[in-house]
Amino acid sequence: MGRKAYEVLLFAHGWYRSLLEGARISHGLASIIIRNGKVVTSLENFEADVEIEDGVITRISRSGLSGHPADRVYNAEGKLLLPGCIDGHTHFEMPFMGTTTADDFLSGTASAAAGGVTTVVDFAIQQSGGSMMQAVEAWKRKAVGKALIDYSFHLIVRDLKATDTEEISNIVSAGVTSFKVFTTYRKEGLMLEDGGILDVMRRVGQLGGLVAVHAENNGIIESNVEKFLKENMRSARYHRLSRPQEAEREAVQRAIYFSGIAGCPTYIVHLSSSEGRNAVKEGQLRGLPVFAETCPHYLIFDDSVYDRPDAANFVMSPPIKGKEDRAALWEGLREGVVKTVASDHADFDTHQKSLGKDDFTKIPNGVAGTEVILPVLFTEGYRKGRLSLNQVVQASSTNAARAYNMFPRKGTIAVGSDGDIVVLDPAKKVRLTQENLHSKIDYSIYEDYVAEGYPVLTVSRGEIVSEDNQITAKPGRGVFVPRSGYMPHKSPLFD
Ligand SMILES: [Zn+2]
Repeated sequence: MGRKAYEVLLFAHGWYRSLLEGARISHGLASIIIRNGKVVTSLENFEADVEIEDGVITRISRSGLSGHPADRVYNAEGKLLLPGCIDGHTHFEMPFMGTTTADDFLSGTASAAAGGVTTVVDFAIQQSGGSMMQAVEAWKRKAVGKALIDYSFHLIVRDLKATDTEEISNIVSAGVTSFKVFTTYRKEGLMLEDGGILDVMRRVGQLGGLVAVHAENNGIIESNVEKFLKENMRSARYHRLSRPQEAEREAVQRAIYFSGIAGCPTYIVHLSSSEGRNAVKEGQLRGLPVFAETCPHYLIFDDSVYDRPDAANFVMSPPIKGKEDRAALWEGLREGVVKTVASDHADFDTHQKSLGKDDFTKIPNGVAGTEVILPVLFTEGYRKGRLSLNQVVQASSTNAARAYNMFPRKGTIAVGSDGDIVVLDPAKKVRLTQENLHSKIDYSIYEDYVAEGYPVLTVSRGEIVSEDNQITAKPGRGVFVPRSGYMPHKSPLFD
């Protein structure tokens, strides 16, 4: 192109842009160019400038976008641009074990955004005697007006007497394509019997959705708990001992058998053990559409935490296992058996945790973690040579986007995708103390941990929601991300 033609094009572009400018002011959107950074996707790394306009990535230029106008130009020299993380496992404002998780959709998504998360998928829980649709509506009410970033839901099916599996098709039509069942928490009323799990999987499989399974054998756990309580063994350590890795392995295997019978893609949430990893791997080798998620706490700690004075703060289910289990989970991520890292963010403050000081069965189960997914994956995974940068992106974003059918709207940096980007400074060190994190709880289980490499800018649909650990987003700006039925096991995720 001749210089003259180029100038005419630039002029025309500028004129067109000024028209857009007027349009943007009217609905509050803006443009941002992130320059000089290294873009990392699930497949490649390259230096480029990235432009986002009206919420969508409009240009990715390896030769640069200097001179292009934008409302904000951010210099990302020396930094990495990753697709915004997708935390596929949060429990904001969740009623559980007689109390409610400390973080709601405001503080929870603040914590997520500061950690580079741009989409959360929270669990809407069917109430006993209630319909599934009531659960979706109830969870939307929790998010609207509060969420700082985008959100979607999984639907927890707990009561098939109050409804039937036909209602699942209405839920899929409403944009919720992933479901969850529990093989334990019988006393809390969350557990489904085997037949119910199979029924759910059959219907969800027909509709092209996905069933997530909390996989621990309830019988093993209840028998152990009863024995420990009878012998007056009530400290937090016995929470760990009541849930051995065999409990996980058995339930994971059962879920995988059911997946085969029902022809339904099955996603094992919060995998915590070597035995569980082996079971998932066996299922995959048999060609079944099964995959697994693990969480930051299983990748950092080992079960010696249950000997600490603050052991109650580490009580979640499944509990943290041994050092060999931790190593097996890293290996699972490296070889692609474990596809995603999500937080299982279900946090309770010290007062709530103290409800179980004399009886481990009364400690509310759960930890905070949405803010540390990326720092942990980068520091422990990439820096320590366990994962490539691309694998960090796969585990923190792309695989979840594929599994939950948000790809390529979410989960990558590409023209036409939502402008969801996290800029990570590899040189920034942050101690993960309670003061440095944004959750509402009054402690951090990561107090002694220093992340080497940290998010410095989180952009959600082109809008800066967190910068240098300060939240800049307005409550309620996040939107519900509807999804549609499809067959995830036909996607490249299972290659
Ligand atoms: Zn959970």
